[in-house]
Amino acid sequence: MVNKTFKIALDGPSGSGKSTLAKNLAKRYGFVYIDTGALYRTIGLFVCERGIASDDVNGIISCLPDIKIEMKLENGGGAVYLGGKRIGNEIRTPIISKYASDVSKIPEVRAFLLETQRAIARENNVIMDGRDIGTVILPDAQVKLFVTASPEARALRRYNELKERGEDVSYEAVLADMQWRDANDSGRKIAPAVPAEDAIMFDNSGMSIEETVENAAKIIDKVINL
Ligand code: C5P
Repeated sequence: MVNKTFKIALDGPSGSGKSTLAKNLAKRYGFVYIDTGALYRTIGLFVCERGIASDDVNGIISCLPDIKIEMKLENGGGAVYLGGKRIGNEIRTPIISKYASDVSKIPEVRAFLLETQRAIARENNVIMDGRDIGTVILPDAQVKLFVTASPEARALRRYNELKERGEDVSYEAVLADMQWRDANDSGRKIAPAVPAEDAIMFDNSGMSIEETVENAAKIIDKVINL
């Protein structure tokens, strides 16, 4: 008998609360949480540390054979390893956000990361958070949610997150960075951050984390109980 895994795709723009929602849902359903943005950020980190500019497409492509990136299951989630070293919060800085957004526009980079993402979903029930999960990575996901919130609500969440981590940032700078990334991510030719045709639009602007989780769970439960 074929043992088909259950896949939930969570796509949407930066700061829409996807990762908080995904982590909560993963706990609730006992699914593996996969943060695909961490893979693009890790490529960005590698390129940045090599001193290559984020818009040097050829330079970035020529790095790819040297990048040993892995995703291992740890504590119910996918942990990213680069050259055998576990990656942590060093990829969560404004400069690496910009690098991640730029490297993710390159088709060779997307192809390079495709199998790492799909392999984990073949073996596990997953909730995968990204931009093109419902459209490209897991087009057969049983549930696809496209999570959105107003740019101001998203910038405020990201600002609070960075402040909590002790980063010295201003709300205006975070909002500007978010607007730049929105345009960069949704305007690109390859795998733009747009909803799949069969995705459910999920705007959580006025919702608390608990409300967001409960409302998303209602949608998922309907499909799981079919
Ligand atoms: O989700 P996060 O903000 O960490 O992602 C960082 C960047 O990686 C995004 O701005 C986007 O450009 C890119 N990304 C992507 N496809 C994904 C996940 C992230 O292009 N599936």
